[in-house]
Amino acid sequence: MARGEIVINESFCRGCGLCEHFCNQGCIEILGDRFTPQGYMLPLFAHPEKCNACGICGRLCPHFSIEVYRLVEKKTPAAAG
Ligand code: SF4
Ligand code: SF4
Repeated sequence: MARGEIVINESFCRGCGLCEHFCNQGCIEILGDRFTPQGYMLPLFAHPEKCNACGICGRLCPHFSIEVYRLVEKKTPAAAG
């Protein structure tokens, strides 16, 4: 399974909760204890181990606050010889 990581831009987020609602892996949580600089409730990337880099949160965010990255495994080159 692909693994992913997201970055939430706190300055753009308006706390609408769409990302939390539509992440079908349950990676994102709005706990109500963190706020953006404008005072909106800030989502937390609470379960990064579950993220499969599907990109849904990034596409749904109406304020373009989420960047999604697909993690790639670094392959160690086989020893010469
Ligand atoms: S969908 Fe975007 S604006 Fe809405 S809570 Fe998530 S990051 Fe913030
Ligand atoms: S990329 Fe997909 S799995 Fe990862 S946090 Fe966003 S919606 Fe959830």
